[in-house]
Amino acid sequence: MKRQARRALVAGNWKMNGLKGSRREVSALARRLGAAAFNPKCDVMVCPPATLVTLLRESAKGSRVKIGAQDCHWNPTGAHTGDVSAEMLKDAGAVSVIVGHSERRSDHGETDGMVNAKAQAAYRAGLGAIICVGETEAERKAGRTLRVIGGQLKGSLPENADARNTVIAYEPVWAIGTGLTPTTDDVAEVHKYIRKRVAALLSDETASKMRILYGGSVKPANADELMAIDNVDGALVGGASLKAADFLGIIAAYL
Ligand code: PEP
Repeated sequence: MKRQARRALVAGNWKMNGLKGSRREVSALARRLGAAAFNPKCDVMVCPPATLVTLLRESAKGSRVKIGAQDCHWNPTGAHTGDVSAEMLKDAGAVSVIVGHSERRSDHGETDGMVNAKAQAAYRAGLGAIICVGETEAERKAGRTLRVIGGQLKGSLPENADARNTVIAYEPVWAIGTGLTPTTDDVAEVHKYIRKRVAALLSDETASKMRILYGGSVKPANADELMAIDNVDGALVGGASLKAADFLGIIAAYL
């Protein structure tokens, strides 16, 4: 496949999966990904629920698999029942955290401003931030995709974001968990636009180095095609990251 200018990242978002009943399967998957011989030519990250960060960190020891998390509060400590801070995730063994996933934006009413504050919290704690943006089906049908994503980037991307502390994930909301994917031309158009917006908001140099992942129904069967698109620097994978064979099949796009 065509090589991109930036080292790719394939990150798995386990969402709220990994319950007691499937714990054996979860740790088997972690062990398989974490095997010392596992040495892909891209960065690999798994973002489990917060309760599994430490277990996965242990299982992945000695391998190149990094452990991330799925969300954080913007404050370091305090009276925020049910929340987890970036500092706590760092302490548990995470190196990065997803912020602004569309399920957080829709389930919890998270705004661009909150996503921005969460990304800054990640930097404060020494974590990287994977900042998600993406349009809904109605927005795409109305021809508003680029405008929506431009607005999300402006609001969600902190001024001190750079290519070391931040990865952007383009995830069309209508493609998440549906089996649908945009055409390769549509993905190319959005990724090119994101890089242009990052250049305008931060700098040309930062934009040229920042990784922009595609997410939304990535699977082994479409990974080669999607990962070969210009300005696509890897994938954020939901459902297919829960089965070792599927996740490894996606990573294989970079072997
Ligand atoms: C996601 O939720 O980040 C995602 C991309 O999900 P899926 O791969 O299942 O579409």
